[in-house]
Amino acid sequence: MKILVINCGSSSLKFQLIDSDSEAVIGKGLCERIGIDGSQISFTPAGKDKITKVTPMPDHNEAIRLVIEAITDPETGVAQLSEIGAVGHRIVHGGENFTSSVIINDDVIKAIEEVSDLAPLHNPANLIGIRACQKAMPGVPMVAVFDTAFHQTMPEEAYLYGLPYSYYEKYKVRRYGFHGTSHSYVSKRVAEIEGKDYNSLKTIVCHLGNGASVSAVKNGKCVDTSMGLTPLEGLIMGTRSGDVDPSVLEFIEQKEGLDTKGVMNVLNKKSGVFGLSSDLSSDFRDLEAGYKSGNAGAKRAVDTFCYRVLKYIGSYVAAMDGVDTICFTAGVGENAPMVREMIVDRLGYLGIKLDKEANNVHGEERLISTADSKVKVYVVPTNEELAIARDTYALVK
Ligand code: ADP
Repeated sequence: MKILVINCGSSSLKFQLIDSDSEAVIGKGLCERIGIDGSQISFTPAGKDKITKVTPMPDHNEAIRLVIEAITDPETGVAQLSEIGAVGHRIVHGGENFTSSVIINDDVIKAIEEVSDLAPLHNPANLIGIRACQKAMPGVPMVAVFDTAFHQTMPEEAYLYGLPYSYYEKYKVRRYGFHGTSHSYVSKRVAEIEGKDYNSLKTIVCHLGNGASVSAVKNGKCVDTSMGLTPLEGLIMGTRSGDVDPSVLEFIEQKEGLDTKGVMNVLNKKSGVFGLSSDLSSDFRDLEAGYKSGNAGAKRAVDTFCYRVLKYIGSYVAAMDGVDTICFTAGVGENAPMVREMIVDRLGYLGIKLDKEANNVHGEERLISTADSKVKVYVVPTNEELAIARDTYALVK
């Protein structure tokens, strides 16, 4: 069966067509600037060159129509419409309603709507994507795969904040965690590589991308993760601050003459390694180059980023009473040997030793700790689209 995987944002839409038998990507692409002037769709059929078409895309219905047109094009397409057996949608927030992926029906749509105030930028866009696909492919089963679902196994002590309990009861204010599809995929994959039982392994997954989060996975269940009610908490990210003292908000509001919205904008878009580097860059390629050439801002940003990851790893070793494997994944985790080295070199207290030669790897699965290291450290490239396609197939087959 061919599965269409859709990751729909407010003005962009990423898609992949995946064969459920071979798990190969048959084609993939991106719609950009939906509802904005200068919109375009790019499509890459497997093994062929990227085709880009600049064309008006006033809304997501038109974007989905163009996605189907690209996939089914008689010359450059890769499938007939009738061959698309199911659609898997990435949904950012499932609240407490969803502990696993589900087939989409009216009740599911309603439940996603209900938690939209927890992810006001993402869930409404995800819903628009679902509705546009339903319109374009009536009768094709659709599955919702939630970023939050994997983390729903966290115990109360890990997901509660030290706030009045009534806020949890009334508004469900708690830690949810994100990147769940990635944390699940990578933790399962490392058990496979190790040839160990997933249900008796302690793994820490460091998903370090533009957004970044760490999770502790014990005996096949997530027991803690660094992102919270929203993806702003935890690690220092590309432009997001991660953990700060909440009093900073009021203080900065007064000093800079901002309102709450203005401060939230700073915390989400102008902070992280971008802000720490005095606006040099949010991209670790630039920061690594800056670090090596002695740029003070780049050094400050990378040092602070790595220290925060190090602290989370330490706390998750405590949470799980030990650790068997540590995995690095996502854009930075897979591609930045310097960052991995700066973190792993400070884990000697766990008996961890980095194999510096093996660590010189980009985007490939590899053991990067030495043979005598007490904890195995891996680079495991994440594949959220494949994980979504697998869940979708499992539910519709
Ligand atoms: P997201 O999905 O959160 O947008 P990714 O996981 O794709 O992010 O990660 C993107 C980030 O990965 C880039 O912003 C950049 O910092 C980093 N990155 C990508 N390639 C490299 C590389 N070769 N070296 C260092 N960092 C890289």
